[in-house]
Amino acid sequence: MTAVNLGIPVMPDTLTERVPPRPENQDLIDRFGRTARDLRISITEKCSLRCTYCMPESGLPAIPHEQLLTADEIIRLVTVAVNHLGIREVRFTGGEPLIRRDLEQIVAGCTRAVPGIPLAITTNAVGLAHRAQALADAGLTRVNISLDTVDRARFARLTRRDRLSSVLEGVRAAKAAGFTPVKINAVLMPQTLDGAIDLLTWCLDEGIELRFIEQMPLDADHLWARANMVPAQTLLDVLSSRFTLTEIGREDTSAPAERWTVDGGPATVGIIGSVTRSFCSDCDRTRLTAEGTVRSCLFSDRETDLRAALRSGANDEELAELWRGAMWNKWAGHGIDTADFVPPQRSMGAIGG
Ligand code: SAM
Ligand code: SF4
Repeated sequence: MTAVNLGIPVMPDTLTERVPPRPENQDLIDRFGRTARDLRISITEKCSLRCTYCMPESGLPAIPHEQLLTADEIIRLVTVAVNHLGIREVRFTGGEPLIRRDLEQIVAGCTRAVPGIPLAITTNAVGLAHRAQALADAGLTRVNISLDTVDRARFARLTRRDRLSSVLEGVRAAKAAGFTPVKINAVLMPQTLDGAIDLLTWCLDEGIELRFIEQMPLDADHLWARANMVPAQTLLDVLSSRFTLTEIGREDTSAPAERWTVDGGPATVGIIGSVTRSFCSDCDRTRLTAEGTVRSCLFSDRETDLRAALRSGANDEELAELWRGAMWNKWAGHGIDTADFVPPQRSMGAIGG
């Protein structure tokens, strides 16, 4: 097990708890009856923005180049996840995935290796305008764009970068490249709450699905406080003052967003109540950090190092078995509302959201 330059200990999953033996099963099952089907891979810790709820102003400490998974290693692990572990959807994230110049190569390699598996990115869309078509050609199927406000000054304050116009160009390029639906994710913050109506109006005009996300205690500056976060219900009250919202529930049990039709539909708006309406009991995610460690939960600092195994010659089944062990020990839930909750050492940008 290695320690990386983020100051984060990589711990084996079995250090602290007695866990029941894992039954024979090829999939990524855990002790609480869940099966992971959705793989999120962080491919870099670097980012073009510095959102206050995520990154420190100076950015995250750089991961030494040799500790980052290469394109070929990412493609190999995706292949193992799909062919040996039952993964059915793959999402590239970060940091900002567009920072990697080889993103098109990674997507094209995965398209060849696991045809038919949806490949998505979560991106801030800075610079996407120049790459959306190439990514579509490489086989990318879905794009989720993070955008919290359509007000330039607020955007610059929240992200510490004046890049709103680049993001909006990216959104339009994603639509033009044929990604459907383009979804927008917005983190709920007190300073942007009164812009929520404008953001939804803009998304309705653009024919884009908007989902709000409750802010989680995953900021690098550790400023999150339960008392300061905007709960889903407060947002619903604000949106209901302008729109008629009719609840339609979740798309399926593994989808975290609760949804409402807006003014009779067909447009919808979603809310991911990660804190106040936790969906941990239905979680179907497994995560790989940019350094190649498996993380079974955003909030657990326990990580299992696949990169070391991969580089020392492990075969696909050996990698799969390590991954299964990591997921078997997944926690029941994040416990944000418990008295002894401790935020994880890695921030959102260092895990991959
Ligand atoms: N840079 C890309 C982006 O912003 O879309 C991908 C990485 S970012 C860490 C992934 C998602 O995590 C984004 O939608 C972002 O808004 C969200 N996020 C970051 N910090 C968060 C926090 N503290 N609570 C909730 N969501 C957060
Ligand atoms: Fe960068 Fe995304 Fe984090 Fe914003 S949320 S700082 S865009 S990684």
